[in-house]
Amino acid sequence: MAFEFITQALRQQQTQSLLRTRAVSNEAINFSANDYLGLSKHPDVIAAWQRGASEHGVGSGGSALVTGYTPAHAALEEKLADITGYESSLLFNSGYSANQALIKALLNKNDLLIQDKLNHASLIEAGVYSPATMKRFKHNDSGHLAQILTHYRPKHANSLVVTEGVFSMDGDMSDLRAISQQCKAHDSWLLVDDAHGFGVLPQGQNSLKQHGLLASDVDLYMATFGKAVGVSGAFVAASKDVIEYLVNFSKPYIYSTAMPAAMALCIDKALTIMLTETWRVVHLNQLICYFKQQCFLRNITLMPSDSAIQPLIIGDASKAIKISQYLASKGLLVKAIRPPTVPQGTSRLRITLSANHSIEDIDLLLTRLQEALNINNGGAS
Ligand code: PMP
Repeated sequence: MAFEFITQALRQQQTQSLLRTRAVSNEAINFSANDYLGLSKHPDVIAAWQRGASEHGVGSGGSALVTGYTPAHAALEEKLADITGYESSLLFNSGYSANQALIKALLNKNDLLIQDKLNHASLIEAGVYSPATMKRFKHNDSGHLAQILTHYRPKHANSLVVTEGVFSMDGDMSDLRAISQQCKAHDSWLLVDDAHGFGVLPQGQNSLKQHGLLASDVDLYMATFGKAVGVSGAFVAASKDVIEYLVNFSKPYIYSTAMPAAMALCIDKALTIMLTETWRVVHLNQLICYFKQQCFLRNITLMPSDSAIQPLIIGDASKAIKISQYLASKGLLVKAIRPPTVPQGTSRLRITLSANHSIEDIDLLLTRLQEALNINNGGAS
């Protein structure tokens, strides 16, 4: 029978769809969202969207090269270039399409693509479909990256190294200084996907500033608006020439309906709040320290992470789901992340903290987490 694999695949992965139905609950305290600064429900951000929709409608009516590009888009791109210190920037509908766009548009058959093993699926998938030779270096291991560059770089015309600023499932930060040095030494470009660093990190609210780097140290910078910015969409920041090239040659940009102007205005407002209501990033980072310290005191072993992503490895997938369900029954949304999103045997609770949380929210999470781990034979504690 044709497409028999669909039935078989569903039999194995059905729980994914079950999890989706339980994903949204307005009553639960959410410890799984990427809304790190709590901006998704900020009244001024909502008002900007509503005003934008009244003035410009809810749809852009076409791709950027046809009818979808307005002064609101241009102003947002300028603001993003300013914030990140790059010459220019370009809006995309999602981080997924921005990553596809970059890798597909920039690399050809004789080129080399080198990715951290734990890079996001959007990056790895783009690499798999790219005609370039793809190699992967051990997670955050600049020594291994150097070995690959030494061996393969001379055989290829261009080279692009790709890493994340803050890794989405482990929450750790990449060793950007060492990686940038290796790229310079081997004449390779560097792309940093900063989806989980942008807006969140205490030093300058992005991974470059966190590591004391400049735009000249990282050729291409990508971040999303669906995380700390609280909305949806993404941008790429780079030199004027690279952005101009993407506008002319990147298919996900050229052949996709542009984000609505109302959304560009709403993102613009969220960025202003991100930069002016600095208590948000300060409070978030205080909560991160508090949560880590309290887990340590309670013998709950988290993965090493200083970011808003604080994963607790459970190991077994069904046990991770049970703990997640227990927490949900107590009004806490903490989703279990399982293979294939993470490697076999490393199913985890991906706990994310937000500036909208209070110390009391964290205390409640700690109490319920401890209960859940005790019920499930101590779990990771
Ligand atoms: N890069 C990383 C590191 C991500 O975690 C994600 C999404 N979670 C993306 C890219 C894709 O971004 P978007 O959700 O905007 O498509």
